[in-house]
This record gives sequence, C-alpha cells and structure tokens, in this order.
Amino acid sequence: MKTDRSRQMLAEANQYLAGGVASSLRAAMKPTPLYAAGGKGARVYDVDGNEYIDYLLAYGPLILGHSHPLLNEKVYQAMQKGYTFGLQHEGEIALAKRLTEILPCADKVVFSGSGTEAVMMALRLARAYTGRQKVVRFHGHYHGWSDAIFTSFPSADMKSQAAGSAAGEAVPGTGGQSVNSLEDVILLPWNEPDVLERTLTERREEIAAVITEPIMCNSGCISPREGYLEAMRKLTEQYGIVLIFDEVITGFRLGLGGAHERFGITPDLMTMGKALAGGIALSAVAGKNEIMNLVAEGRVDHLGTLNGNTVSTAAAMAVLDELGRDNGAAYRQMERIAGQLAEGIRSLMKKYNVNGVVNQPGPVFHMMFTDQQEVAHFDQFGRRDAAKYGLFAELMLDEGILLRPNGLWYVSAVHGDKEAEETLKAVENVFAKRPE
Ligand code: PLP
Repeated sequence: MKTDRSRQMLAEANQYLAGGVASSLRAAMKPTPLYAAGGKGARVYDVDGNEYIDYLLAYGPLILGHSHPLLNEKVYQAMQKGYTFGLQHEGEIALAKRLTEILPCADKVVFSGSGTEAVMMALRLARAYTGRQKVVRFHGHYHGWSDAIFTSFPSADMKSQAAGSAAGEAVPGTGGQSVNSLEDVILLPWNEPDVLERTLTERREEIAAVITEPIMCNSGCISPREGYLEAMRKLTEQYGIVLIFDEVITGFRLGLGGAHERFGITPDLMTMGKALAGGIALSAVAGKNEIMNLVAEGRVDHLGTLNGNTVSTAAAMAVLDELGRDNGAAYRQMERIAGQLAEGIRSLMKKYNVNGVVNQPGPVFHMMFTDQQEVAHFDQFGRRDAAKYGLFAELMLDEGILLRPNGLWYVSAVHGDKEAEETLKAVENVFAKRPE
C-alpha cells in the first residue's frame, strides 16, 4: 500500500497544524495518518490512490455513508437560502418537532454543535434542576473532552488509561485540564448494581446526575447486564437524581429511538450527536419538560453561535427521513450486515485459532483479541491485546479495509453483501498470514 503522499502531507501539516491532525485521536493510525481524497457510499479514497471499505465512518457519524444523494440535495437546498442566520428558521422547528416524535424521552430539545457540548449542557441542566453538584460517571465510558467530565482517553488507540482512573479515582485526562475540574465527579465501575446502589444511597443528597452510555460502546461495546439499567432508572427516580443517557454513539444507530427505546427505559435526559446529521456538525439534548423548561424560564443558559443552523438541521431531517423510510429498512440492512460481519469474524477466529471476542449489539461492534471467553466488564476489556489489534488494523489497510485502530467498527446503511464478503475475505487473508 502506498502512503507517500499521506506522509508528505502530514509533514507539511505539522508545520502549521499543531499535532498534524485535527483531533488527537487521529494521530494513532498506523502506518501513518491517512489523507482522504473523497468518499462515495461505503468506500473512501486516499490521496495515494488507495480505496478502502470504510468502517471508521468518521468515528461514527456517516450512518448513510459518504456523499449520500439525499443528504447532498437537502444540504445544497438549505445552503441556497443561507447557511445560518442567527435568526430563527423553519428548519429548527421541524427538526425539534421530529425529534420529540421519535425519541421516547423527548418532550423538548436544544441544539448544539458537538457531542461534548451536548454533554456539558445536560450536566448543567441536571445541576440546575436538582440544586446538587456531583455527577456519577463510569469507567470506560467517554463523554467528550470538556474539563468537567474528561477523565482519560477511553481506549488504547490513544494513550493508556490514566493511572488514577484505573484505580477508581477520577483524575484529569490531559495536561492543561483544571486540576479541580473533576472534584464533582464520582467515578464508578459499570455493570455493578451493588456499587451503584450503595453510592447513590449513601450520597443521594449530593448527586445531581448519573451519566452513562446505555451500551459501553467506547470500551468493548459491552451491553448492560440484565436489570442493570432498570435498577439505575429505579434508584435515580427514587432519589431525585437526573438520569442522562449519553447516546452520542447509540442515538439513531441502534434504531430511530436510540438505545433507550430499544431497552424500554426512559432517561430524564439524552444527549445525541454523531449520526444525527450524518456527518455535518450537530448535536442535541432531549428530555422531559420539567427539566428542559429551565431554559425557557431563563434559569439555565444555552448558547452557541451556530446552534441549529440551516445546513445541519436540513442534514438531520434528511438522515431521519432516510433512516425512517420503508419501515426502517436501513436498520434491517445495517443489522444484517453487521451480524454477518461479526459472525463471519468469529468463525474465522475459530478456523485460524485466533483467540478473540466480537461484541455486536447492533451496527456498531467491537472486535478484540483476547484469551478470555467473554468481554463483559471494563476490567476484561482492559486485558485485551490492544497492540495485536493495532497491527491487525494496519494489515487490513493493505487489504483495502479502513478500521479504527482500537477495534470499534461502524456499519452504515449503504454497506451491503458485497462489502461484507470482501471484508471477510480480507480478514481471512490477514489471519492466514499470521496464524498465531
Ligand atoms: N459521548 C460519547 C458517548 C461519545 O462517544 C463521544 C465521542 O466519541 C462524545 C460524547 C463526544 O462527542 P464529540 O466528539 O462530537 O464532541
């Protein structure tokens, strides 16, 4: 695989762009961060002329793949009228209304630009609503990079877990983060109902919110244990604590109504981003009137110059139209292809005596090399062979498959049988070359 041009461009970027890449995570790609020339459907092309089937999907947003015709058309139409006004416009009402119709937890919504901002807003709402300060979050979950919640990078494609985080104490995840920023964060292991019950019971007077990914997508795509989210819902309700589902990954990916619809558990607030506008910057918080009305009452400020702009809201409407079409045909397709890939990889692991686990809750899944029988807890996730997977991802590039180096795969609505077949062939080639 040729990477000369990408390497030249990275050298040039390093002269002007701090770190060479636009988000620290992207530097982890081996053999070198790649420069995109374009994308179409499930495929992406780099500046050296390589073509890949794309399972990185821009870290999740490209649920309709690259350059989807409907998304292009709607964005183009919106742009003709103006990108953003700082005035109100019809598109923001239409999208807000649609979200309240499809998300069980949504009486009202607010818009923002990134998942990080949506989480910041949700925490602010929770504190204002309860008059309390502390926030419970969990090991292995990622809720964006704001000082208020960032404990450490979530997985080994970036850095190792910060030492304190692994030991149970929330410590800043990066240089420059305010040393006091996590004083109000209580970091707990996830999927442990007893620890949760004990903490919430003992500290209920202090705790404003529990924030959780409903499926631990950022560390192993680990599903909640039977009854765990139900217990979380029951306890938070009992103690007047705001339950926030961070659905920045699961929102619109596990179904139009996200993970909370799938599990039949309604959080008080939900954050969403990534897939919502199919690759255009847009995020949102949705929740029940009692909490969301704090904004209308002027008790909580919600700000942002580009919030709810015409382009992003038009993009989101196109995504929701496409995902909702033909009774959710897109979801059936994504589930089928993701299932085919996960099953195919598991069989190839058996065939080639490669020890590993694939956790596949839906059209996002995590592939890991490990001697363990299962990865159902963050500790088990920590014991996977991350370096071996990094090497696998690098070898897959040679086979024309673009993967995130940490093991997380995203499948879009335009990945089909042909892509799945080519991908499994590539996995087989890599396993056959490295039989250990
Ligand atoms: N929440 C979750 C669950 C995420 O996975 C992410 C990003 O990966 C975020 C929040 C932050 O979103 P963004 O990168 O758009 O700021």
